Amino acid sequence: MSEIEERLAELERLGLHRRLRLVSGPQGPRVLLDGKPVLLLCSNNYLGLADHPRVREAAADAAMRWGVGAGASRLVSGTMTIHRRLEERLAAWKGNEACLLFGSGYLANIGTIGALAGRGDTIFSDEFNHASIVDGCRLSRAEVVVYRHLDTQHLEWSLRRHGGSDQRQLIVTDSVFSMDGDIAPLVEIARLAKEHGARLMVDEAHAIGALGPGGRGAVAQTGLEGEVDVVVGTLGKALGSYGAYVCADEEMIHYLINTARSLIFSTAPGPPAVAGALAALELLEERPHRVERLRSAARTMRKALAAEGFSVEDGEMQIVPLIVGDEHAAMRLCKEALERGVFAQAIRPPTVPAGTSRLRLATMASHTAEDLRMAARALGEAARGIGLDPAAMGPRVLAQRTVVDEHEPEEPYLPMAARERQARAPFDVERESSIPRAA
Ligand code: PMP
Repeated sequence: MSEIEERLAELERLGLHRRLRLVSGPQGPRVLLDGKPVLLLCSNNYLGLADHPRVREAAADAAMRWGVGAGASRLVSGTMTIHRRLEERLAAWKGNEACLLFGSGYLANIGTIGALAGRGDTIFSDEFNHASIVDGCRLSRAEVVVYRHLDTQHLEWSLRRHGGSDQRQLIVTDSVFSMDGDIAPLVEIARLAKEHGARLMVDEAHAIGALGPGGRGAVAQTGLEGEVDVVVGTLGKALGSYGAYVCADEEMIHYLINTARSLIFSTAPGPPAVAGALAALELLEERPHRVERLRSAARTMRKALAAEGFSVEDGEMQIVPLIVGDEHAAMRLCKEALERGVFAQAIRPPTVPAGTSRLRLATMASHTAEDLRMAARALGEAARGIGLDPAAMGPRVLAQRTVVDEHEPEEPYLPMAARERQARAPFDVERESSIPRAA
């Protein structure tokens, strides 16, 4: 057996093997998956804009007018007018002075973090931050202090312990967490950033189109516009396209143009993707009721799941994790749900901590109430069919679990010196290790 074969066999044995499934047609509420019609319940096309006729037309027109590729990095072959147009619209929409497009959210995070922290600096990062933030922290070579998920007391304690030097400090958090659908306590985090002289960076990937007035995100919802140094958002989820942006003041954007390596050394997003996102943004501004439809779909889904016995609370957040725990069991549940016509991908380590494998459900504004009730019934039947108790599944279960990283023991998430670990006695050190996460 070759080393690669052995590794693949091991992944299979651990229930961590992945394969790509073939979807025919756009990311609508129903798709053909490997040839079988199913309800799509795991796409981030939250507002149904990826396949909206106006968005498609805008992308097609842009291809005819400007071509498909951007040719090079914008620092080499120039910013195209369509890039500039979307940046101006996004900055105005988010209430920031300036905006900078990146090739993707992953690139925006690694580039921005690397620009804001380096050797000798300190980054404070929520333990459940997205993999692109985790990787940005690793690449930056800064010291990384991972604070407990949503725990501002732990963050404050960490800031006190590590603060006070002349070096730069950066707090970074998702606003909506991609695998749990919970929301960072941004007001308190912003207060702590101010008090301790740290910069604050917020990733709004899953909040755009879902939270805040007109779907402008969690920063807008909490009235923190202007108080967060850097806001990242992607074009690939609610805005139905591909690419990402950073909103900040003019000076910061000027600085990122000069220092963010993933901007400098990567080809700019292609005109059709940029024009598609611009059309999606216009639609969102013109018809913000889509955001209300998404919230209403989330409410319906949550109620229907609760009626099936799942431990899911009422709410308006479109991401609903059904936490199963075991990797193999999550895969079985996914398969059973597919047989009943519902596609909800099983999410396993390293995307989520070991022992918290789950189906991550994502509702879309384009789902009907009947779609969602059917899905909840199918998921309930699927769970009971393989001997799982729905009552033991849901986001609430997460809070009761101890998160222990078993899959990267030799390489914990940016280690702190051993003596530091001991000195941190008031907090459970085990929980501070973290693993890469991705959506
Ligand atoms: N941040 C978060 C919180 C995400 O969930 C994701 C994607 N799943 C990204 C960043 C990366 O964005 P993109 O898909 O545009 O690379």
